[in-house]
Parts: sequence; C-alpha cells; structure tokens
Amino acid sequence: MCSWTVFLVAAVILAGVLRRPGLTLLGLAAYWGVLLIHETGHLIAAQRLGCTVFSIELYPIFGIARFGTPWSRIDHCKIAWAGVVAQAAIAIPIVLWVAAFGYTRFEAVNMLFVILGFFSLGTAAFNLLPTRPLDGATAWGIFPALWAQRRRRDSTPGGHRSAIAYWQPRSPDASPRIKSSLPANR
Ligand SMILES: [Zn+2]
Repeated sequence: MCSWTVFLVAAVILAGVLRRPGLTLLGLAAYWGVLLIHETGHLIAAQRLGCTVFSIELYPIFGIARFGTPWSRIDHCKIAWAGVVAQAAIAIPIVLWVAAFGYTRFEAVNMLFVILGFFSLGTAAFNLLPTRPLDGATAWGIFPALWAQRRRRDSTPGGHRSAIAYWQPRSPDASPRIKSSLPANR
C-alpha cells in the first residue's frame, strides 16, 4: 500500500556499519519492525472496519498489507491513516523518552531508538505525501469524505435538520413519530 523506495538511502547508511554485522542485523530487524508496525496498523483498522484481512508481506524496502475492499471511502481513508498512526504510537513515546532522558550507554539500544523513533516518524511523514503509491494519496481524502458524510446526514430524512417535523403530531392523540434512520455509513 505504500512505497518505501526512497529509503534506499537508509540502506546506504546501514552499509556504513557493514563492518559490524551484529549491529547491522539488528538495524535491519528494526527497519523491518517499522514496516511490520505500519502494515499491522493497516490490518487492525481493516479488521475493525469489517474488511476481510488477508496478509502482510514484507519485502526488503517496503511492505504490503492485503485486505478486502473497504465498505466506504471513509473506511478506506481510515485504513490508510492507520499505518502511520501505528508508527507514531510507538515512535512518539520513544522520541519523547530520548528528548527527556537522552541516549543510553548501549549502542544497540540507541540504534533501536533512532530507527523505531526518529526514522520511523520521518518515514511516516514522508508516507503522508499526497501522491501515489503513498498512503497520503488516500489518507487526506478523509476530510472531503467526512464533509460529504456530514452534508448527507444533514439532508437525510430523520437527520437533525428535519427532526422537527416529527414532533408535530398529525392528530391530537398521535404521539410523535420516532423514525430511526441512521444514515448509512457506507
Ligand atoms: Zn501503508
């Protein structure tokens, strides 16, 4: 659902520590961890919104979350947001921790902080650029979609704009008619 091509740059940086295989492997694992967190975010949202969830595929520099067609445009936008939200949910506490307490004496831990924190936030921001195949191409559509839903709800019989009509009984003994017409959310 998103391209990570630009993060080849990260691979170049990682190549700099090739002399230290242990750290390099840990770095790669953390990088794939970021991908996994992102794609898992998509799938959790998809599942909560009633989509069939198929799989997560991780490739060297990008990942794909596979799920069934969302029920609405808004749902699709929410699922697009969920990838970066999942990254931010982990990255922001790490960044705040480092800002408050600094780095540790352990190089490996510091590298995890950098990749799962700062690097992850950077990729999340990049991924929100409104261009295909990045998530931003879908994610920002949530605002016009929410606006359209709001307008639909306002003009739906039973919506709050026309609710007053139902409080005018047709005959003296008629009770106010309560119509339950929740606007369809799809
Ligand atoms: Zn994505």
